[in-house]
Amino acid sequence: MKPFHKCPVCGGELVEKEVEKLLRGGKHTAVIKVRAEVHSPRGPCAPHPI
Ligand SMILES: [Zn+2]
Repeated sequence: MKPFHKCPVCGGELVEKEVEKLLRGGKHTAVIKVRAEVHSPRGPCAPHPI
């Protein structure tokens, strides 16, 4: 559990998002789902790298 949901850069609101990531190994391709924290579209600042 992560209580911190504020952008460390600008203090804006962060939301948790599930993104799909493609893993390639030889002939096999696997799709894994990872959680990433991204800027809320309602955030006060424009999206930027965290
Ligand atoms: Zn920010």
